[in-house]
Amino acid sequence: MFTLLFALSCAPKPPEPVTAIDAPPAPPPPPAWAQPVLDAMDTSVGACDDFYQYACGGWIAKNPLPPDKAVWSRFSTMRDNNLEALKTILEKAAANPAGGDAEWAKIGHYYAACMDQPALDQSGVAALQPLLDSINTVKDQRGFMRVAAEIAAIGGDPLVSAWIDGDYKNPDESILYISQGGIALPDRDYYLQGDDDSKALRADYEKHLATMLGFAGEKEPVTMAAAVLAFETQIAEASLPRAELRDPDKTYHKIDRAGLLKLTPGLDWNAWLEVSVGKSVDISVEVPESLQKFEGIVKKARPGVLRAYLRWQAIHAMATQLGTPIYDAHFDMFNRKVLGQKEPEVRWKRCAKETDTALGEITGRYWVAEKFPGESKDKALTMIKDVEDAFVAGLPGLSWMDDPTRARAVEKKDKITNKIGYPDKWRDYSALGITPGAHAQNVVAARRFEHRRKMNQVGQPADKTEWYMTAQTVNAYYNATVNEMAFPAGILQAPFFDKAFATAINYGGMGSIMGHELSHGFDDQGRKFDGTGKMTEWWSPEVATRYEERATCVKNQFDQYQVGELNVNGSLTLGENIADLGGVRTAFRAYKARHGNDPATVSSLTEDQLFFVAYAQNWCSVASTQWEKMLILSNPHSPNALRANGPLSNLPEFATAFGCTEGQPMVRKDRCEVW
Ligand SMILES: [Zn+2]
Repeated sequence: MFTLLFALSCAPKPPEPVTAIDAPPAPPPPPAWAQPVLDAMDTSVGACDDFYQYACGGWIAKNPLPPDKAVWSRFSTMRDNNLEALKTILEKAAANPAGGDAEWAKIGHYYAACMDQPALDQSGVAALQPLLDSINTVKDQRGFMRVAAEIAAIGGDPLVSAWIDGDYKNPDESILYISQGGIALPDRDYYLQGDDDSKALRADYEKHLATMLGFAGEKEPVTMAAAVLAFETQIAEASLPRAELRDPDKTYHKIDRAGLLKLTPGLDWNAWLEVSVGKSVDISVEVPESLQKFEGIVKKARPGVLRAYLRWQAIHAMATQLGTPIYDAHFDMFNRKVLGQKEPEVRWKRCAKETDTALGEITGRYWVAEKFPGESKDKALTMIKDVEDAFVAGLPGLSWMDDPTRARAVEKKDKITNKIGYPDKWRDYSALGITPGAHAQNVVAARRFEHRRKMNQVGQPADKTEWYMTAQTVNAYYNATVNEMAFPAGILQAPFFDKAFATAINYGGMGSIMGHELSHGFDDQGRKFDGTGKMTEWWSPEVATRYEERATCVKNQFDQYQVGELNVNGSLTLGENIADLGGVRTAFRAYKARHGNDPATVSSLTEDQLFFVAYAQNWCSVASTQWEKMLILSNPHSPNALRANGPLSNLPEFATAFGCTEGQPMVRKDRCEVW
């Protein structure tokens, strides 16, 4: 599946023999927690040849891609476990919504309505009808912008994407960010690439547009499908490639309403802002030139095409939440053809996820009570502290830094807020009405509620208690404008983290994830923000130049990797790759400081080796080729095999642990080092 650059030729080098005076006693059997680690490995592959295969080959052999998934990883197994726990909670609430408080009733009614497939099939597009009626009245770009904003409020992104974040230059105040949007396929490249596969996919997409336009009441679906595809293709052409949006210095353009109107007088932002925000706001436009081109595209389009495009955007935003024929058509295009997923997930999984999306801090409250042991929080906090200390301890060894910049890096680190497990204060859903038996209406209501909640933050100081993921999410994040890291309860579990695990496993698994998020504060984007979350130059110019050189080394490394026919995009993935490299190195230092040099305990692996095996096993996964294509074209993360092998082939600590020598594939000649 992966065409790695590494030639798989050299034999692995065994660990250094231990010189003992006496004959060593027979090794004890591995502890229970170690068995899954050993089972996931494939020791027939050399650790110095292809470490990902060595650490994950056993797991990959035992885990064919499930038919209802486009990607399957150790993250996915945890997600499915979390979902099972959620199912138990939701089924109880659905069976007895009166058996708890008002929030309990909300999740019960929401889940029950979602599970009532016959009622959903009967209602067809009824929940969208008011919006579709409103589209019928659109005569020009003025009406177009108003309805575009209404569609954005239910989860679509016609023409532009918009979100709320702290002002990069004044993070105490939240402002509105407007960027490129308007296309439904995963990336502009899907519209522009000329290979046969891409052309065939676009032909399928055009048919799908016609089907969906038919559902949305379009009179000439086939003709209009071609027109909508042409409209989106123009948007794709006018959009910048993703990698060019990564530099916050280049994408920060702050203007007010008058400035936005002056930039693109042909787009009625008054109508758009009135629906979206309803008050005067400060705005940053990511790519002013793209917006001007979008203005030209809208101006040129016939009113009938504008209406068809809006019908498509409206029904696409809700496609997974309407009756069976619409869901099936959507699944066939976007899951089967675009992502390579063979079958839909069973209904309860979709409904549990949907309830989670709509009411995630209610489901989270119940999930945490059942699944998150209190002592996990203390253990995680200790580990974060170790990782942060290790980051600071590593700074004097970085020859490219100077003392003033080192001191400011420590200052930024000291100001990081760490969020562990779940919010101190759960979100208030009392203003959101949920109607028993009306799933699609509930989805519309929940999305509007969330949209309004975010838009109300404009002009307000950043809410530092807000979580951007629910407690049961198997993921983590760093947020530069608040300078915070968050590790939801959902990820603080086996196989990444468990109180029974050896220190090497916990630090290689969860510690590396913590190191990854911490390094985001100092990757090529994060480094531009200071400890208060303000975008400002806190680096000496010479140090900044040397940093850029080191970042370029990582960019060049990943530019060389190929997966199938596609090249990894070293620019798009740069921040994540710097975070992976810094993360695993910092976590290794943290683990050594906590644990010292311990003797081998598991099978033939030393504890240092165990650390690196645990790190690589974070990334054990299988995926469809379509998923990999989507990932490479549109996602800032590198493919999983490279998230293991890429960073480790730069690390002298890894080479020492496994006795890898120069010339072997896991020892890069031009090693990159950033943090
Ligand atoms: Zn990341």
